[in-house]
Amino acid sequence: MKIAVLPGDGIGTEIVAEAVKVLQALDLQFEMETALVGGAAYEAHGHPLPESTLKLAQQADAVLFGAVGDWKYDKLDRPLRPEQAILGLRKHLGLFANFRPAICYPELVGASTLKPEVISGLDILIIRELTGDIYFGQPRGRRTAVDGHFPGADEAFDTMRYSKPEIERIAHVAFQAARKRNKKVTSVDKANVLETFQFWKDVVTEVHAQYPDVELEHMYVDNAAMQLVRAPKQFDVIVTGNMFGDILSDEAAMLTGSIGMLPSASLNARNQGLYEPSHGSAPDIAGKGVANPLATILSAAMMLRFSLNQPQAAERIEAAVKAVLAQGLRTPDIHSEGTTRVGTAEMGAAVVQALR
Ligand code: NAD
Repeated sequence: MKIAVLPGDGIGTEIVAEAVKVLQALDLQFEMETALVGGAAYEAHGHPLPESTLKLAQQADAVLFGAVGDWKYDKLDRPLRPEQAILGLRKHLGLFANFRPAICYPELVGASTLKPEVISGLDILIIRELTGDIYFGQPRGRRTAVDGHFPGADEAFDTMRYSKPEIERIAHVAFQAARKRNKKVTSVDKANVLETFQFWKDVVTEVHAQYPDVELEHMYVDNAAMQLVRAPKQFDVIVTGNMFGDILSDEAAMLTGSIGMLPSASLNARNQGLYEPSHGSAPDIAGKGVANPLATILSAAMMLRFSLNQPQAAERIEAAVKAVLAQGLRTPDIHSEGTTRVGTAEMGAAVVQALR
């Protein structure tokens, strides 16, 4: 089992270090190799995703990723910005399916801005298509408008597009995931306005015929955004396109209290995957030793389950995380009265201790 470890920038290095300690405490035989990515790679090699890092990721069974980015790189040409490394890895590894579970742990009910009764017991899974949609569609660019409301004016444009096989494969992923859960899929679209998403809806409906044991509902994205904060427990698996998934999964993050608790997995057709916390590099708290490492540790658990075929080890990590929360240990982002405030390294050490 080979793991490419790419800590990245900001808090990435701090949180990945804790996840690595947790993996090492499992007594499994891993080969772990670390490489630079993002701003750190740009500083050293002049590119956020150097050839050597990409090669390491391609040869590994899984990538454990921290986060990339810093405001100081915002002025760089777009292809050199740290965030391009993630897009490059997704593209080169063919990572088309993004899994983001949003689970509200009983101990953290108070950390959410929503009422406890709305989120207590929440366990939903957002599956976002990751390699298509308006984020990758061509053509895109800037030009002088020849028609529209202001002919002759400067304008910018992107292209929203999905092919049938792209929708089919993500629909299969969603229905199969739902089979292992509560057997309900909500497909989120904007079919009332967008041709692309009428097509999405039609294709998902067609694929559903192969999964009669799973319930399928369709929901417009604006309603889904509202329902997620009104009554999130109505959902089991949500499947949607790249842009809607980007937005809805961050909204779902806040249901659970802190983005510091949310793991994610991005998989290709061979179950090779990239595992990372849902948050970014948090430059505002980087280097202070206060970042919550649990999202990254839970991402490592997802890696064991999906790419390394070690479901029991995954369960051990998840149980250890629940145990430290039950002990009352909290990083500042999830701290509340009556609990014990700890830093990144202490939280990691507590998870290792609970594993043992
Ligand atoms: P962010 O997720 O880094 O931070 C948002 C807020 O959440 C900040 O207040 C931060 O302190 C807090 N936060 C995030 N993770 C935390 C953790 N583990 N523990 C405690 N608090 C945490 O988003 P941002 O501030 O919008 O972006 C910062 C940089 O990260 C930007 O350069 C952005 O492009 C990049 N980014 C990278 C990724 C990625 O690597 N996948 C994702 C999103 C943003």
